Amino acid sequence: MSRPREFSAYLCDVEGVLVRDKRYEPVPGSVAWFNGLQERGIAAVLVSNNTTHSPAELVAELRRVGFAVEPEQVIGALPLAVELLAQRGLRRLLWLGHPRLAGWWREQGFALAGARGEAQPVEAVVLGVNPDLSVDDLERALPHLREGRAELVALHRNAFWLDDRGRRRLGPGAWCAALETVARAPAIVIGKPQEGLYRAALKRVGVAAAQALFISDDPVADLVTAGRMGMGTALVLSGKHADHAVLGELDQEDWPDVICERAELIG
Ligand SMILES: [Mg+2]
Repeated sequence: MSRPREFSAYLCDVEGVLVRDKRYEPVPGSVAWFNGLQERGIAAVLVSNNTTHSPAELVAELRRVGFAVEPEQVIGALPLAVELLAQRGLRRLLWLGHPRLAGWWREQGFALAGARGEAQPVEAVVLGVNPDLSVDDLERALPHLREGRAELVALHRNAFWLDDRGRRRLGPGAWCAALETVARAPAIVIGKPQEGLYRAALKRVGVAAAQALFISDDPVADLVTAGRMGMGTALVLSGKHADHAVLGELDQEDWPDVICERAELIG
């Protein structure tokens, strides 16, 4: 058996690792575990596909339930999307994610458009978690994707997520697959499992991939990329999956290095 690796940084998913779901109820033991990492000399950043709260709101929610997390410790799909959309010159958006983030997008310098009957084209159709998304909303994207020149952008393409009642809901991945059937090109995906968010996290903690352990409740969407980039990988069973049956979806070489009930048991 190989010697256990030592890690100088932990890259943590948020929902399912630190907190249970959108209720932000901490996973047992996770507050003390996370808050003790710094004392043990382990740098920690949160690598989050969260698209329901602005980065500042996410930090506030985590602090409210006891996590001593600083804004610079959060690497999120939303700020990365701002960077990538701006780089591509896509400023006029049809935002199909959570309506509560509309104001945040405007604060970042984007125009939100694409209401029914509005003639002016949008430059990107952007998908995030939206519990109230309707077929009518999806149809508003049709003319922009099919006849227009809009790019289809998914902040992540997870198939489902757990809402504030712990219910499994269809996620941006499902809506993205539907809209790709009418789009001119495959969607641009921003968050995990794309490498960009992982690279940003490694840069933030200043360590090489081999020195980092990625901890997540999603072995498919989160840990495969981390493992292929050379990080250690730990699957926790405190979120989306109560057992390791999900590993049947993966090639054995993509299985996590460690499986445990909760993050605090990783040490
Ligand atoms: Mg998760």
